[in-house]
Amino acid sequence: MVFPNENEITNAFSVDFEDWFQCLEVIPISRWDNYEYRIEKNAHRMLDLLDEYNVRATFFILGYVAEKFPYLIKEIDRRGHVLGTHGYSHKQVYKQKPKEFAEELKRSIDIVSELTGQRIYGFRAPIFSIVSKSLWALDILLEQGLIYDSSIYPVLNYRYGIVSSKRFIHRLTTVSGNTIFEIPIATARYFNLNVPVGGGAYLRIIPYLITRAGLKKINHKGQPIVFYATIKRLRKLFSDFKFAPIEKVFSKQLGLQ
Ligand SMILES: [Zn+2]
Repeated sequence: MVFPNENEITNAFSVDFEDWFQCLEVIPISRWDNYEYRIEKNAHRMLDLLDEYNVRATFFILGYVAEKFPYLIKEIDRRGHVLGTHGYSHKQVYKQKPKEFAEELKRSIDIVSELTGQRIYGFRAPIFSIVSKSLWALDILLEQGLIYDSSIYPVLNYRYGIVSSKRFIHRLTTVSGNTIFEIPIATARYFNLNVPVGGGAYLRIIPYLITRAGLKKINHKGQPIVFYATIKRLRKLFSDFKFAPIEKVFSKQLGLQ
């Protein structure tokens, strides 16, 4: 039996570009300026690390951060990464009305494309907040020219996830009957359960060797991993796996070739 060589598979690496306090639900946007921003320091560490391992990534930019630190967005672009959007205020999609979501999305896309000249293709919702009750958001992504979403986590979690959703890139029919590509974060299958192995907090909680085994399992099936991260523990990951931006890994499916 011939297995695909996992070393030949290029996986997708993505970064949710935001500061530490912006992802905490308990701290709303109105209070963000009371906190010390660490994003400038962390962004440079992340960019240097990516350069060191020659990895290009997709950066999902929070619109608020782009307005406050425009030079950082230009720097990410200058270093060859692809830009996506992470919305504006980090409010969960299911807590927004469609009109509010659409306005924030437009503001976020506009600022990033004005700063860099890049066309934005993808969206990652704050806290993976595209769930069954907020699927209406997918039509708004299409209306604003995006072609893929990377927000539906096929796991069981108290605040996000659609457990029955497909684990790999697929076309999803929206509420209005259009289609959009869904590119989910990596999960490994153990005992009929989807276990999140695609990064973020899980990378800190789950021992690296378990994450690595789960990721290898995906590559053995011939599928690329979609990973998202903050800077911790990335050196090991970059030594073990090959990565590129989402837009490159799935360029054929997305029609970007
Ligand atoms: Zn976030």
